[in-house]
Amino acid sequence: MKKTLTLLLSLLVSYSYAQNADSVAIRKIYNEALSNGKSYEWLRHLTKQIGPRLSGSAGAQKAVDWTKLVMEQQGFDRVFLQDVMVPHWVRGAKEEAFIHIGKQKMTVPIAALGGSVATPPRGIEAQVIEVKSFPELRALGPEKVKGKIVFYNRPMDPTKINTFEAYGGAVDQRANGATEAAKLGAVGAIVRSMTNVHDDNPHVGGMRYGTGVALIPTAAISTNGADLLSKSLKENPSLTFYFKQNCETLPDAKSYNVVGEIKGSEKPDEIIVVGGHLDSWDLAEGAHDDGAGCVQSMEVLRIMKALGIKPKRTIRAVMFMNEENGLRGGVQYADLAKKNNEKHIAAVESDNGGFTPRGFGIVGKPEQREKIMAWKPLLSPYGLAEIGPGGGGADIGPLAQTGTVLLGFKPDSQRYFDYHHTTVDRFEAVSQRELELGAASMAAIVYLLDAYGL
Ligand SMILES: [Zn+2]
Repeated sequence: MKKTLTLLLSLLVSYSYAQNADSVAIRKIYNEALSNGKSYEWLRHLTKQIGPRLSGSAGAQKAVDWTKLVMEQQGFDRVFLQDVMVPHWVRGAKEEAFIHIGKQKMTVPIAALGGSVATPPRGIEAQVIEVKSFPELRALGPEKVKGKIVFYNRPMDPTKINTFEAYGGAVDQRANGATEAAKLGAVGAIVRSMTNVHDDNPHVGGMRYGTGVALIPTAAISTNGADLLSKSLKENPSLTFYFKQNCETLPDAKSYNVVGEIKGSEKPDEIIVVGGHLDSWDLAEGAHDDGAGCVQSMEVLRIMKALGIKPKRTIRAVMFMNEENGLRGGVQYADLAKKNNEKHIAAVESDNGGFTPRGFGIVGKPEQREKIMAWKPLLSPYGLAEIGPGGGGADIGPLAQTGTVLLGFKPDSQRYFDYHHTTVDRFEAVSQRELELGAASMAAIVYLLDAYGL
């Protein structure tokens, strides 16, 4: 009995000692990120010196070269590229659009959706049919839709507290709106921007065409433009809408994922990934989406090195290519991992903006989730309270097939869609402190994943 008690006590002591050592290590991680952090200056370079970097563009290539160089300069054990062929869509000359009522023409801001075809060179002008959903559109039938422009105007639900949920509830209009409209003979599709703010910025994003359906041009209209069009339609149902866009899909281009690595000292064959996506929409500097995630990921490795943390497992920072309009980089990374028989125990992605950290969403088996959730007391002092089941991330998603546990970094979501996929997603929209807290949060979870495995 006495022996068992002594054993229990010594176990407890060693456990609390480990906990204490972990909390000291995590404190040091935050101190390093907040005192000597590099993520903000890196973000400045990525957004201001390189700027927009849609897949296949010169900007994307510059971003590949520069992040590779930065990680080499940091002296990580290995920095390498993974080849990947990516879609190459270009916007061409700026779009034009106006609402036409009698002699009056009211210009509205639009931007072609990524992947869309162009209009004919003279543009398209047609009557407009406004709908809020696909069922509503189908109920109208081809007789009411044929030859018209379908205007999708269902806003993101402002009552959802998590704005990603609101986005998920509206984005079908952007992704599949053109195809659903074309099935009924429409000549174009205009989609209300995915945001809760009322502004003049078209929020772009990816779309895809279904097979066997005519490819009709589709564009995002700013929320103010959408409100004006809706109001005008109520007063003048027979008004016409004109738009012209000049985009084009070129042959696939060669690009790369960029990977930096610190080799594990005890279990080098177990890999932990921390990453973001390097590409951005062509209109944006891509500061929150997803320059923030990239510089935070590089910062995780820098912090470990600066603090002399020698991870047991191999830690990789991955800059994925082509999340925005194809996900080819994420798919290629997982394919190569499988082909090379690599064991990825966990992958952490930051692709929800550089805002104040709130927690991590976990995709994994219940016992794996519970193990991670048990670290909450170590992380909650830093505002990381929301640690539980939830989304991982688009780029790391394909790794789930081979049993990798996915963790999605969750910053506060309230302002993300104010900037998402627009010209205002620029460096100035990111707070240095929030960005650095995010980098530290990711470093802390990677530290724990490495220390205890899964
Ligand atoms: Zn993103």
